[in-house]
Amino acid sequence: MGSPGRAHEGAEAGATAETGLPYFRYHPDPVATGSVRASTRACACCGRARGWIYTATFYSAQEIDGPFCPWCIADGSAADRFTGEFTDSYGLDGVSRAVLHEVTRRTPGFSAWQDPHWLVHCRDAAAFLGEADYPQLARHPEALAALRSTLRLDGRHDENQLEHFLTHLGQGSTIALLFRCTVCATELAYADAS
Ligand SMILES: [Zn+2]
Ligand SMILES: [Zn+2]
Repeated sequence: MGSPGRAHEGAEAGATAETGLPYFRYHPDPVATGSVRASTRACACCGRARGWIYTATFYSAQEIDGPFCPWCIADGSAADRFTGEFTDSYGLDGVSRAVLHEVTRRTPGFSAWQDPHWLVHCRDAAAFLGEADYPQLARHPEALAALRSTLRLDGRHDENQLEHFLTHLGQGSTIALLFRCTVCATELAYADAS
């Protein structure tokens, strides 16, 4: 389970200063979200054991012997060398090629039941803050409202069923993925189900 609250409050100054990790504009606290964790394992790209490894998705046709370090994600060397992407470009509509490239090839992805995807706001990719169950999402009312209207548009017209779905996020096979717009700071979320 991620920690959206912490990521929300101190990612830029906090995470990078504490850990010395590279800063990811679209995934500001990958330690809090669980996509990067402390480890003594060596990176499959640079061969160095730098204390941190990436734990989430990487899509490549090649066989890769082990995890990557965050630095080989940040500088694009892992994606280049193994011709892969950390996140599918699905959903990243309306952003520039540079942003698309940064999110899919130079940003840690995250694990989800369905193929993870990035939310877009103000024609830029949003920053991934982590998973949220209902109590966590309720502390981000803007994101909760955004998710509610998305679900209505997707055809959940029965208000009781909709509220039941929302209040049970995190209790079974559903979870919310929380984001924040990198331009206007609006909070967003989508629901993931197994
Ligand atoms: Zn590396
Ligand atoms: Zn925005």
